[in-house]
This record gives sequence, structure tokens and C-alpha cells, in this order.
Amino acid sequence: MSRLNPRQQEAVHYVSGPMLVLAGAGSGKTSVITRKIAYLIQQCGIQARHIVAMTFTNKAAREMKERVGSLLRGSEGKGLTVSTFHNLGMNIIRKEYARLGYKPGFSIFDEGDIKALLSDIMQKEYAGDDGADEVKNLIGAWKNDLIMPEEALERARNPKEQTAAIVYLHYQRTLKAYNAVDFDDLILLPVKLFQEHADILEKWQNRIRYLLVDEYQDTNASQYLLVKLLVGQRRQFTVVGDDDQSIYAWRGARPENLMQLKEDYPSLKVVMLEQNYRSTSRILKCANILIANNPHVFEKQLWSEMGHGDEIRVIRCRNEDAEAERVALEILTEHLRTQRPYSDFAILYRGNYQAKLMELKLQHHQIPYRLSGGTSFFARQEVKDLMSYFRLLVNPDDDNAFLRVINVPRREIGSTTLEKLGNYATERKISMYAASDELGLAEHLDSRYTERLGRFKRYMDKLRQQCAEDDPIGALRSMVMDIDYETWLRQNASSDKVAEYRMGNVWFLIEALKNTLEKDEEGDMTIEDAIGKLVLRDMLERQQEEEDGAEGVQMMTLHASKGLEFPSVYILGVEEEILPHRSSIEADTIEEERRLAYVGITRAKRNLTMTFAAKRKQYGEIIDCLPSRFLDELPSEDLVWEGQEEAPQEIKAARGNDALANMRAMLKR
Ligand code: ATP
Ligand code: MG
Repeated sequence: MSRLNPRQQEAVHYVSGPMLVLAGAGSGKTSVITRKIAYLIQQCGIQARHIVAMTFTNKAAREMKERVGSLLRGSEGKGLTVSTFHNLGMNIIRKEYARLGYKPGFSIFDEGDIKALLSDIMQKEYAGDDGADEVKNLIGAWKNDLIMPEEALERARNPKEQTAAIVYLHYQRTLKAYNAVDFDDLILLPVKLFQEHADILEKWQNRIRYLLVDEYQDTNASQYLLVKLLVGQRRQFTVVGDDDQSIYAWRGARPENLMQLKEDYPSLKVVMLEQNYRSTSRILKCANILIANNPHVFEKQLWSEMGHGDEIRVIRCRNEDAEAERVALEILTEHLRTQRPYSDFAILYRGNYQAKLMELKLQHHQIPYRLSGGTSFFARQEVKDLMSYFRLLVNPDDDNAFLRVINVPRREIGSTTLEKLGNYATERKISMYAASDELGLAEHLDSRYTERLGRFKRYMDKLRQQCAEDDPIGALRSMVMDIDYETWLRQNASSDKVAEYRMGNVWFLIEALKNTLEKDEEGDMTIEDAIGKLVLRDMLERQQEEEDGAEGVQMMTLHASKGLEFPSVYILGVEEEILPHRSSIEADTIEEERRLAYVGITRAKRNLTMTFAAKRKQYGEIIDCLPSRFLDELPSEDLVWEGQEEAPQEIKAARGNDALANMRAMLKR
């Protein structure tokens, strides 16, 4: 275990009031948090269940849990919470849903659900869903700023905002009627709850005696307030952050929150860390010089003793295909030459769309990789179908889920029937599901249809009962068989292989649910909660990673790389319009893009390579690309530019005559 430097020690040992650790990349901020958790438990006698640490991603939460785990003995860590803001919010709602006016088993709407709902509302209210995306963004921004519909309506300054505010009002009402929440509500609702119910707030304040927050620069207004409410008068917290790594302004993050802390907590103790333990001096120098182009509130120095290090390479490639090929072959060669594991290499990029080509190249060369983010498991059709069934099981009021499953597989219930059912349900102020077997429905629908609807409802009711009474996982498994989902998949897939693959995802999903239930520490998790958890992906990401094994090149967006580190880092597409992103150039928010580049560069421990393409296909057209302005800002004496995209010689020679396979086999021996 590494020894903490004096400043880090100070940060770990200070427990007599609010504290902020403000420091640059790789200076040990996250390490301070993990060590402090152990210190609080072992030296200050605070029980783990009274400690909550917040991280930005599930991946970061997992890593932190592991790191803390290795510092603790026996059952010392039992009950410790390390989670994302959204996960914590969900747990709060899960325990307090009644006071929020929700019923048990609320649904969490994903992007697709939200879009469908908004479009639905706009169709009804305005006979068209033009600008639905804009409305969605406005609602998101309001929620992040804790502005409720009524207030949004008052504040609206132009017709566009007025429309959005009205849609917001309907949207929020419909969510409630569906017994559903959206992603932003996971923070917003707990904050509102705490503001309105002092007793509940007190309960949670007593539960959370010490709060730690990593990546504090990326908290938005609602998260800031959630922290403020939770720490209350006790004010026992440590937050760590780096204003230069603030990259979530688009989600309402406010680096000024770092400043606000001093005003809200006059006794705030601030510690700055200056030694970087991650990168070579050369990488660090580049990062420092780049970020110096941004205006600064806090002046920070960063130095490292990790040696001077190799130059930073900038590689110009013919086009995006050559770029991906070059990176894949280089990683392959390096791996074969040095025997370094593939997991030492990371490929970072600005947008998920850049990953596709890279994936193909890695697959082509049989290089194992792990992709974080991207098309999520939950975006897959079969997973959505199943999840909708689960959602309807736990929350019969979820009309969206009802509509998604009613004809999967086909039950011959047409859109006219559904519309009539919908109208009837609205009139009766009940959900479509509940309306499905009401006698009154017979006045509006032919008996053929009422029978079909009734049959579906009776089946689901029976299943719900099974889930509640005995083995819920078994019930779900038999449901998949009962509805003959596999046949449905086969009928709708392009090939049997595809259908098989999708069926595999279905079983994987149920398995994940089972594990969620089994791994629950507190032991009070219901199947409803487990499904809620799954929607937050937590478990699934973990499982997928466990399955893939740790071995593999890591691929992720620059945003997702925050907080992580890798011996060798490749940043793709360091070009104008990509990094900085075109929309940022247009909106004149280059500084945020520079911070993003800074985050990327500071992930590298020893080697950093940046690539760009001379030409690139965009919207079906080949366009000329310019290297990023950020490359010009880097110190030229520390860069080497390479203009040719050819692969390293030995690989090139090896290609085409199976020598590559031989080389691989030889090195394996
Ligand atoms: P980021 O801003 O990127 O999130 P960070 O400030 O959180 O970085 P850490 O991830 O905590 O930094 O630490 C960076 C690396 O330095 C880690 O590998 C960590 O183990 C190591 N490290 C931290 N403190 C020390 C120390 N005192 N001695 C040796 N290594 C250290
Ligand atoms: Mg960190």
C-alpha cells in the first residue's frame, strides 16, 4: 500500500468539519476518499453503515468498493454505501415512496419511454411533436435546477418555453399516474421530500453520519442541494474535485458549486494536493500547458516524480479506417512484443459513434476488448420487451409498459381496441391494465376483444401472485416459456443465430435479476426493487464485466474515462469538429472541450498517442479534416508527429500469409 504524503494525510485525518480537497488530476483525490473511509471506520469508530460515499459512475463505485474492501478487515465494511447519486436517490425513493404519493414498485422510465411519452403528450396537446427533443432538454434543465412545472410556467420567457412548461406539467402528472419516475426525478424527488418532511430528512441525516463525494465539480444544482440537506447541521463531509475536469455542464453541472461551498460553510477546510502519482512529467506538462489556456479561479500546480517519459505521439492517418487499423495493429504489436496485458491499453474517443469501426478492427485482429457505454444492453429490443413485462408485473399502472407488451407476442389486439381501452381507462381514472377486465368495457368493445384483454390480465395477475408468493425468478422463467417468446423472436429475427443470441440476452437478464436479489446485503429487497435496480444497470454492467474477464483493451468515451488510469492511452479523432466538438465550436464553449481533452490526456500513465484522420466520412460524404486546435496548444518539443499510417513492419509482413497466427502461437508458448 502506498504511503500518503503529508497533505493527503491531513485530508484523511481531518474529521472535525466540512472539508474540500481541491486538486488536479492524478493527485490522489479518490485515494484520499478510500483511505478516509477506512480511517473513519477503524480510527474514528464510525460504523460503515453510517458512511456514504458518492461517485459519478457505477464503474467508479465498484472500483471504490473494491479499494476500500482491501483496506478493511472482516465485517468492518458491512453496510457501507458507495453509490452514484442516482442509485442513492433510488434507494431513498424505494424506502419513502409512500410519502411521495407513489405506490410500491414504481417504474423508472428510460430515454425511449420519456421520448414516447413526450411525443404522446405533444400530439394530444399540440397535434404534433415537432421540437420534442428541445422540450425534453428544457424539462431536464428545469429538473436539474429543481424547478417544478408551475414555476417553469411562471418563468417561461417565450412561446417555446411556455409550450415546454405546459408539456412539463402534463408530463409530470402522467408519470405520477403511471407510478413512474424519470432519471432526473431520482434526485429531484428526494430533495423535494426532504424539503417538505423534516422527520424523513432527520431520519436520513441520522443514518448518514459522514458523507464523501468524489468528482464534486460535476454535481448539478439538485445534487448540490441533496448533499446540503443530507449533511444538515452536522456538516460532516469531505468532497473532492478538480474544476479543470468539469465536463458535465451540459447536464447542469456547476463547477461554481466548488466556490459556493465556501459561502455555505464558512468553516470549510480546503486542502490542495500538488503531487501527481500517475503520469510521466512529459504527459503532465502537456496537460498543464493545455489547460493553462482556460481561465482559472483556483491556481493549481502539478508535478510528478514518475520520470520524464516518452514523447507524446500525434499520428496523422489517411482516413478513419486507417486510423482504427493503425491503433488496432499497434496495440497488437505492443502486446505481442512486450507481453503487456491488453487491459493496459485504453482507446478513448469523443462520441460513441467512433467506437463502431474501432470495434470491427479489434475483432478482425482477434484483440479482446471491453466496451463501456455505447449501445446499452437495455436498448436491445428483447431486453426492452422483457423489462416491460417485469415493469408491468411490479407496477400495473405503467401504461407504457402495458402498451409495449400487449402485442408481444401477437395477441390480435389492434390499435382501435387499445384506443378505446385507453379512453375508457382515462374516463374511469384507472390504468389500462386495470381497465382490461372491467365489465364496463363491454359497452365499448366487441366481446372478442374484451376476452383477449381479460385473458391477458388474468394471466399477468396470476403471475404477479406467483412472484409475490414463492419463487419469483422461477415464475419469470416460466413466463418466458408460457408466452413462447422464443418463437416470437424467431419469427422476427433475420436468422436463427440472431434469435438464439437474443434469447441468450433474455436468460441473461433473468439471471442478473436473480443475482441482484441474492447479493442484497440488507436482505429486504423485493423483486420490485431488484427490477428497479436493474433499470439502473448497476448489476448488469458488473456482470458483463465479470463475464468478459478483466483482460481486454478498454474502450470508452472521454466522459466515461473520468477518474480512471491506464498505462497506454490512445485518443482517437483529435480533430476540429470532433474534439472540440462542432456544437461546442458553434456555441463557443471551447473551454469545456479543452477540459475534456485534459481529462483524456491525464488518464495516461506512460504512453499517450493521439490520432486524427485527414479525411473522414460524414453523413455519407467524404470531408477533409483539420487537426484539433488543442494539438497546436501543446508544447511542440514534447510531441512527435507521424504522417504515415502504415502498420509497423513486422505486422505488415506477417499479414496475408498466416504468419500473424504463427507469431501469436509462438508468443503464447
Ligand atoms: P483524477 O483527478 O483523475 O480522478 P485522483 O486525484 O483521484 O485522479 P487517484 O486516482 O486517487 O487520483 O490517484 C492516482 C494514482 O496515484 C493512483 O494510481 C493512486 O494509487 C496513486 N497514488 C495516490 N496517492 C499516492 C501516494 N501517496 N503514493 C503513491 N501513489 C499514490
Ligand atoms: Mg479520482
